[in-house]
Amino acid sequence: MFLKKLEIYGFKSFPDRIEIQFERGITGIVGPNGSGKSNIGDAVRWVLGEQSAKSLRGGKMEDVIFSGTEKRKPLGYCEVALTFDNEDRGLDIDYTEVTIMRRVYRSGEGEYFINKNACRLKDIVELFRDTGSGREGYSVVGQGKVDEILSAKPEDRRQVFEEAAGVMKYKARKEEAARKLDHTQQNMARIEDIVQELE
Ligand code: ATP
Repeated sequence: MFLKKLEIYGFKSFPDRIEIQFERGITGIVGPNGSGKSNIGDAVRWVLGEQSAKSLRGGKMEDVIFSGTEKRKPLGYCEVALTFDNEDRGLDIDYTEVTIMRRVYRSGEGEYFINKNACRLKDIVELFRDTGSGREGYSVVGQGKVDEILSAKPEDRRQVFEEAAGVMKYKARKEEAARKLDHTQQNMARIEDIVQELE
């Protein structure tokens, strides 16, 4: 699996539709201070489902939408699409190319898509879990992240290794199964109460 393309419209400092093609090997992004280099990394984490405005260096989620300049009006929505080559089926979905897209309107309403089909945030998180590329994956190493990992509590640091080892997916499924089991047990207890009342 390999990141091929990033398309941005209206995200932070990018009011125009832009497309960045990534070749195999290393791609460097250079530019003066404040020109938007970090915003590109933010766009990648955002489309992968980042929910924390603070970690995207904003106050609220709408802050990711282009807020206008002296010469340009603010935009009403923004969208980011990320395309992966999936020949090796690194993503567990039967397509050779996978494009995920996220759009958000100033009203706060948002949408997610996988290969142009509307989906839930949960579907995107599931798709990328244990690939290392999810919103909390270790493949996006922001400024200060290395320090954070080194000084994190052992339990937090363990999460990084669990993601790398591919066990996060099973942990999340186990938690969901335990929740369903608990719910079912509560339902059964209620049914038993009703049966006893009827007897
Ligand atoms: P440095 O090299 O200093 O780290 P950088 O190239 O990484 O800088 P960024 O932090 O990516 O730059 O971009 C900062 C710029 O993005 C600022 O000029 C800021 O005004 C602009 N910006 C951030 N959010 C928005 C927004 N919603 N609308 C318009 N511009 C925005």
